Amino acid sequence: MSDESTGTAVSDQPSDAPRQRASVEDVLVDVKNLVKYFPVTAGVLRRKVGDVKAVDDVSFTIGRGETLGLVGESGCGKTTTGRCILQLYDVTSGSVVFNDVDLVQTKGEQLRRMRRHMQLIFQDPFASLDPRMTAGDIIGEPLLVHKIAKGNEYRERVAELLSMVELDPAVASRYPHEFSGGQRQRLGIARALAVNPDFIVCDEAVSALDVSIQAQIITLLMRLREEFNLTYLFIAHDLAVVRNISDRVAVMYLGKIVEITTSDQLYANPRHPYTISLLSAVPIPDPVVDRTRERIVLEGDVPSPMNPPGGCPFHTRCPQATDICRTQVPEMKKVDEGHMASCHLLDAI
Ligand code: SF4
Repeated sequence: MSDESTGTAVSDQPSDAPRQRASVEDVLVDVKNLVKYFPVTAGVLRRKVGDVKAVDDVSFTIGRGETLGLVGESGCGKTTTGRCILQLYDVTSGSVVFNDVDLVQTKGEQLRRMRRHMQLIFQDPFASLDPRMTAGDIIGEPLLVHKIAKGNEYRERVAELLSMVELDPAVASRYPHEFSGGQRQRLGIARALAVNPDFIVCDEAVSALDVSIQAQIITLLMRLREEFNLTYLFIAHDLAVVRNISDRVAVMYLGKIVEITTSDQLYANPRHPYTISLLSAVPIPDPVVDRTRERIVLEGDVPSPMNPPGGCPFHTRCPQATDICRTQVPEMKKVDEGHMASCHLLDAI
């Protein structure tokens, strides 16, 4: 069984691991103008009194074999975006094209078959595994649901999946409480891999783990990506974690993407004031540099997604805000090749 006590801390330096960049033509996931509003009701008659605008006109693509990091504060719409792509939520409007099929328009048996190619790894490895099932049953469940294997073939596949995530196949008979947090997350990854998916949404998949275990799980995810040409949407609130695994990173604020570019560009040349403030909070391994650099502390809380501010949604907290920011919504503009951001003052920042 893998030893999880020997991992190294997640560095905020770029990873040396080769990054597989997808060609523009080889798009696996194409999200266009995605909107997800949750209706809010009140009173005995449960009349609709408004909407929580969890995802508000979000567009991006993910290339085959690519990892797109999706970052932002809690409640910014990252998880909802991931779940809308997987069609775990009904989408309010917009399209999610996966392998040339618009999932929003796909229903019933066809959607069920498409789902086999898309999997989710949850944040909480404690809550996401049924405590009454053995590790083998947990991993093997998708094989039975999708009628992929039974009998000896089933047992061999479960053992193979355990080996893939660096767990001893002999642990198949153990229950989740007998595993550490990191090992439980390995079980979650093995379960996601069971159906040979093309695309995995990793929803804060390492956020609940110790820093040293985070590094091991990220290394594992990167190895599996190379081995099986997997495509990830890697959702996290921690920019240091996202940097290590992502080819590109999209930053979300109040249901919108405010900046998207390559991972290296984002860290070297962030242009949106929100991205700049998030990066200023990422610890630097050198304590002398870390002590002396300027931190941007955002004032106030994220506004309610039920009643987002007009103009630029970030203007109520932005240290650079001017009059135009309060009245006009900034459009996504090209900063550089493959680098887009939405801010009126891009030229000045
Ligand atoms: Fe800040 Fe204005 Fe840019 Fe919005 S548009 S991020 S408020 S400077």
